[in-house]
Amino acid sequence: MKLTDLDGRFAFGATKTGSSLSDGNTVEGMQGVMFQCPSCGAGKEIVVDHERETGGRPRRFIAGAHYIRVFFANPRGVDVAPPDADLRNDGTPNPRWTMSGTSLDDLTLTPSINCDIPWTDKDGVAHPSSCKYHGFVTNGEVT
Ligand SMILES: [Zn+2]
Repeated sequence: MKLTDLDGRFAFGATKTGSSLSDGNTVEGMQGVMFQCPSCGAGKEIVVDHERETGGRPRRFIAGAHYIRVFFANPRGVDVAPPDADLRNDGTPNPRWTMSGTSLDDLTLTPSINCDIPWTDKDGVAHPSSCKYHGFVTNGEVT
């Protein structure tokens, strides 16, 4: 599916407690991207909200699917998101992805994005990931 079918939006202003989301469609000045999980969203209803534009078109999203946030290692015109932005469940930092492209329509991220990472809580109890997505964002397509 396309990033624009998964409520894809660029993120900026990242801090330990969150980030802001852009309604625009340029990667310039953006620290990352957020989009809905195509794996967990499979088979769910796609909603088109004509009252709201993102990326220059009506917002499209999957009812009830969670979001994946990826910060860039090489943002343009802005600093890399701080290391404590978007920590994993176990409190360790997430990696940053190398980005190329100019917009949601041609964004490419490397390497792959793997959400299926087991984690251990502060009591030493191991948990499987609830999300099994492992895929790619290539030229605006999420596979
Ligand atoms: Zn998922």
